[in-house]
Amino acid sequence: MATLRFKALDEISRREFVKTTLSDEKISSIFGIDVFDREKMRHYIPKDAYDSLCTAIDEGKNIDRKTANQIAIGMKTWATERGCTHYSHWFQPLNDSTAEKHDAFFEPIMSGGCFETFKGDLLIQQEPDASSFPTGGLRNTFEARGYSAWDPSSPAFILDKTLCIPSIFVSYTGEALDFKTPLLKSLQKVQDAAVDVAQLFDKDVTDVKVTLGWEQEYFLVDEALFLARPDLAQTGRTLMGHIAAKDQQLEDHYFGAIPQRVSEFMKDFEEQAYRLGIPLKTRHNEVAPNQFECAPVFEEANIAVDHNTLLMNIMRRVALRHKLRVLFHEKPFHGVNGSGKHCNWSLATNTGVNLLAPGKTPKNNTQFLAFFVSAIKAAHDYGLLMMSSIASESNSHRLGAHEAPPVVMSVFAGSTLSAVLDSIEERVTDKKMSPDEKTDIKLDIGKIPDILLDNTDRNRTSPFAFTGNRFEFRATGSSGNCAAPLIVINAAIADTLIEFKNDVDKLIAKGVKKDEAILQTIRNYITGSKVVRFEGNGYSDEWLKEAEKRGLESINNVTEAFKAPLRPKFSNLFKRLGIFNDSELKARFEINNEILVKKIQIESRVLADLATNHIVPTVIKYQNVLIHNVQGLKDILPDQYKELAAEEIRTITRIAGHVKAIREGVHDMVEERKRFNNVSDVVERAVGYSEIVRPYLDTIRYHIDHLERIVDDELWPLPKYREMMSIN
Ligand code: ADP
Ligand code: MG
Repeated sequence: MATLRFKALDEISRREFVKTTLSDEKISSIFGIDVFDREKMRHYIPKDAYDSLCTAIDEGKNIDRKTANQIAIGMKTWATERGCTHYSHWFQPLNDSTAEKHDAFFEPIMSGGCFETFKGDLLIQQEPDASSFPTGGLRNTFEARGYSAWDPSSPAFILDKTLCIPSIFVSYTGEALDFKTPLLKSLQKVQDAAVDVAQLFDKDVTDVKVTLGWEQEYFLVDEALFLARPDLAQTGRTLMGHIAAKDQQLEDHYFGAIPQRVSEFMKDFEEQAYRLGIPLKTRHNEVAPNQFECAPVFEEANIAVDHNTLLMNIMRRVALRHKLRVLFHEKPFHGVNGSGKHCNWSLATNTGVNLLAPGKTPKNNTQFLAFFVSAIKAAHDYGLLMMSSIASESNSHRLGAHEAPPVVMSVFAGSTLSAVLDSIEERVTDKKMSPDEKTDIKLDIGKIPDILLDNTDRNRTSPFAFTGNRFEFRATGSSGNCAAPLIVINAAIADTLIEFKNDVDKLIAKGVKKDEAILQTIRNYITGSKVVRFEGNGYSDEWLKEAEKRGLESINNVTEAFKAPLRPKFSNLFKRLGIFNDSELKARFEINNEILVKKIQIESRVLADLATNHIVPTVIKYQNVLIHNVQGLKDILPDQYKELAAEEIRTITRIAGHVKAIREGVHDMVEERKRFNNVSDVVERAVGYSEIVRPYLDTIRYHIDHLERIVDDELWPLPKYREMMSIN
């Protein structure tokens, strides 16, 4: 009987790729067609309700019951006209996915028949009985349920004939059980703090929004091969597999043309994305074979996060149509690059200014510098917290390797700005400046070019790089929710901006002129955060040593990273800003540990099963072929066989050695699992799983990968790397 692998390969050889039948319409005519945006609101909601909704969206004001009812009716009318039968609160629980529970609009009437209904109460709040999402002990399933509540700042949309209402998810007592709740709080804080600082320069600034532009990397694998690899199907990554002779060495994939079949898939999911108002702009191949990236135009951060999670969902669905599977795991294949999700962060004012873009005048540039140095200082003070925010079991396979930012924070400013910062540090003093000195400094600052987007002056090895008009946080994993790092970046920068404003005010109170007070504060921040600036190769070992010398703490393992937010310095930051209270931090800590244990547990079970039931029996079959051959030689050529079969005998011995090691490894790994399953403290269990159980995965894999090179290709049961990594 042919193995799953050969059945899959056979199926693929006969496969024709699915041509996408795209609508002929221009992107502009389908863009946002499935979104209940302002234009549709105006059409479906009475004027006064529409006005209150806009105020709620723009200023975070509450919506009263009557208005909610009017909005609900409008939403339902729009959705049912478009064929929707159900509605759902759509939220982002703490497990890197999205959740929905669908309810029908349909309501039967006692007297017979039915009507379709949707009331304000249902729009505003739902009790989804989502009792099995991770909660870290924040709610006892028997007593209290989680509640989802409408987030009016992100528009409702239609997915699969269901009206989806973006929502937050909180416990009965109001603690956050999701990513959106703390994200919204952190956005409010940093936006308010940014308005206060911006007003030092321009009183017309009354509103600032965080902008986020993410870049999503992913791998694609043919569905038949995916299904023939139980490890991929169940854990999202390959737990074994010898690297292909040719993978990314020639870097030909990165510059190459997108394969036709993949391009059909891309066009298909892009069309779905446009309908949902996701402004996708860029698509290209990535470094590893079968690795790709897409990126939208940046948007207001809360909406951008929703769009990222929604797009991941759409990509998974659309891939099925093309008999492909999308892998969002950070490291699906050993030996080639993993996937990340860069988060480009900036601040935009209601006056149309990007606060992280240098301007044309010295005043604009001083404002830019105030924000720029505050962000650097935030990375200096809270870098460890920022790096810990993206720690997860799956991302730990990628970080610190020579392809992704290391586990210590550094900021890349670029040569032009580094020179400006150095000159300010040198020339600004606490003493009152003479008019000449002031002019000189202003001239200097005025010289910052307003366009810094020079690709040659880019550093792709820094976790927090300034890229001309934004900071790019590069450590986020491809499977994670961008909200996790964003909450920390927002909190850290909010706190620093609040401090900046206080520092300037204090100097002014002492009689220092406003412009001098601003320059002195900028200078102090440059000095205070200097050690986090690094322009060299962040992937090098020298940098790790240098970072240590500079007193920058690095994160060495995942379970340590989970603990960071509990340190008083960091938990106080969250408490001060009202983003997380102690019990929420503790709950998140427990959830992180729990998820880590479960993920390693699943991987370990899958590997034990594959090793014992697929690999070892196959290998023994092949070993028997060799034994048979040696035996035959001995029968026919009794005098010469020892010499002739020497290599085969060595191979038989090598196989026996690997099989023994695999069997022992599996046995010991299972024993260790049992040992840690009995540890009741989840943190201790997580440390055990990550430090004791997980290394067995690598040992066992090592032996299997050696065997893959020894055993007859015809017998090998699982698709190989070279097969999975080519989509034509
Ligand atoms: P690269 O790969 O060189 O970093 P990309 O074009 O792939 O460049 O990605 C750039 C990302 O930066 C896009 O997601 C884009 O929306 C985002 N971006 C550009 N300007 C801003 C901004 N002001 N605020 C936030 N994100 C931005
Ligand atoms: Mg980038």
